[in-house]
Amino acid sequence: MASRQQSSHMAQPMGKAAMGRQVAEPIAASEEYMKYLTNLIPSTTELIKAGFVVTPLTKKELQTKVKCKKCNKKCTKTDRPPRDPSHAGDGSSNGSFANETTSTASNAGSSHTGHKRRHRSHGKPHDKGKQGDATSTNSKQEQPRIICKYHPGRIKNKTWTCCSLHVSQPPCSGAPTHTPLTYAPGALEARWLFVPTPPHPSSNPQAPQFRSAVAIDCEMGTSADLESELIRLSLIDYFSGQILIDSLVRPLVPMQHMNTRYSGVTRQDIQNAVRNGTCILGGLEEARREVWKFVGPETVVVGHSVRNDLVCLRWIHTRCVDSLLVEEGVRKEVKRREEVEWEEKMDGEISRMLVMAATKHGKNKSEFLDDEEEKINKKEEEEKKKRERRSREGMSLKALAEKKLGRVIQDGGKKGHDSVEDAVAARDLIHHHILGLMQNDKEEREEKARKEAEEKAKEAADDGPETWGAPPMNYCVSHFPAGWGI
Ligand SMILES: [Zn+2]
Ligand SMILES: [Zn+2]
Repeated sequence: MASRQQSSHMAQPMGKAAMGRQVAEPIAASEEYMKYLTNLIPSTTELIKAGFVVTPLTKKELQTKVKCKKCNKKCTKTDRPPRDPSHAGDGSSNGSFANETTSTASNAGSSHTGHKRRHRSHGKPHDKGKQGDATSTNSKQEQPRIICKYHPGRIKNKTWTCCSLHVSQPPCSGAPTHTPLTYAPGALEARWLFVPTPPHPSSNPQAPQFRSAVAIDCEMGTSADLESELIRLSLIDYFSGQILIDSLVRPLVPMQHMNTRYSGVTRQDIQNAVRNGTCILGGLEEARREVWKFVGPETVVVGHSVRNDLVCLRWIHTRCVDSLLVEEGVRKEVKRREEVEWEEKMDGEISRMLVMAATKHGKNKSEFLDDEEEKINKKEEEEKKKRERRSREGMSLKALAEKKLGRVIQDGGKKGHDSVEDAVAARDLIHHHILGLMQNDKEEREEKARKEAEEKAKEAADDGPETWGAPPMNYCVSHFPAGWGI
């Protein structure tokens, strides 16, 4: 529709003027539809598994937010001293960081390898005896693994002052451990304070009506402490397709950059909006209050990777439908079916091979079997990789919108994303999925009814007076003559 067309060319938020503007086709709300929608809400266990925050952070969880002041990454548990103190030392002091990374590649499995997984030594029967004492050789060469990789210098004219390399170049220095930033007392707690959706203020008759479902999308910049910081907030009504909120948000923390390439928001945009009074001035707290005008504890919140939007708002809301998780579920099911098919095919292959071995190869049977097994294993490995590659590709909102909705979004080039357009796309993906489920269920119901009717017709034909003959195959139960006894 025309308004959708307009919105895709307009990355800038409309502020309060946009409220109520229709940006998507309305969807007829019904109890049945809500049942389908709420069925897509993951369980709390599934939410936690997918990285949603469902309770305020514990002290231990807060600790995982501490950043390294050298590399700006999180100081996770990889920050452990090397096992053997004789190997300890600052990786930067050897002056050859590039060599260090290559030498440590063969080093996986030492005590401080952290989250990097040990290279798999495939336990195939053919490998037996070949591994020998490789492990002991490795341990002799063991060197401190570089956990913290960074440029010690600053960026000047798009170049690192430490190594004169372009900003895009990988770090020139490293250290075996991270160096945690120091936070003022209570600062980390305040920064990561998550707040649950408050209940409806029923005492206030002026309180606006909560929506049964909304779609959300946030644009984020990067704060000085290198966290994602909310800078634009868009909320639409799931059913009416109208804009509820589309506003820039003034961050209340120092910002490093606005991520303009993706967010489509510049510092100047925010300054202008502040001047014009079209901006949410009170940072996250006010942004949440704006959302809660429309969203109560029962409201279903839809989004693509909606976890990120919730985290960015420091908001706990468990009635969520995530178009990414829904799509992942669909792909998992497809993959499972493909695997079953593959297994069946391979079973056939193995029987064929055994027959061949028994008939043709006489004495060399076991060698032949070994060869064949290796071929099958290889094929299986390739097939598995293929399936995994396919399940990973095209999960971005842009790719899914194009594939499932035939819609090109995030096409603004340097203008960045439009969070209204993205919220609409996530909502339409979910709607598309629900229509599919409804259609499936309808077909299943019809098939069941058809079978039942066929069954009954058969019974009736067996019992009934012969002169009536067989009922037509496509009759409807309600058209049954009274004499059929149903
Ligand atoms: Zn450097
Ligand atoms: Zn670090």
